[in-house]
Amino acid sequence: MPTTRRTVKRYLRRRISRHALDLFDSMMKLEQSASCELACSTTNPDCVACKQYWDHHDKLHDELRLTSWQWPAFSSFENDKPDAMERFKALKAASDADKRAAK
Ligand SMILES: [Zn+2]
Repeated sequence: MPTTRRTVKRYLRRRISRHALDLFDSMMKLEQSASCELACSTTNPDCVACKQYWDHHDKLHDELRLTSWQWPAFSSFENDKPDAMERFKALKAASDADKRAAK
């Protein structure tokens, strides 16, 4: 019997809201601007970039309605958790498509 396969990517993309994209874009900007490369502990109150980044991350995690074991919300690192890397690709693709559409 033939089955219809749905990729994780496609499944997620439908759930990426405007708000989620805004959060993702802000996180990408923070990642590029942070001199610490976001390597600080989240409990380090002195690093504004890290605090903002993880604040955004928590909001994005909620926005995508991820469960507590779907952590982090996304990862751009190689060899990280496959589902987190998949979410990064989906968010990046949605963000890029959004930017192209805005031009
Ligand atoms: Zn930092």
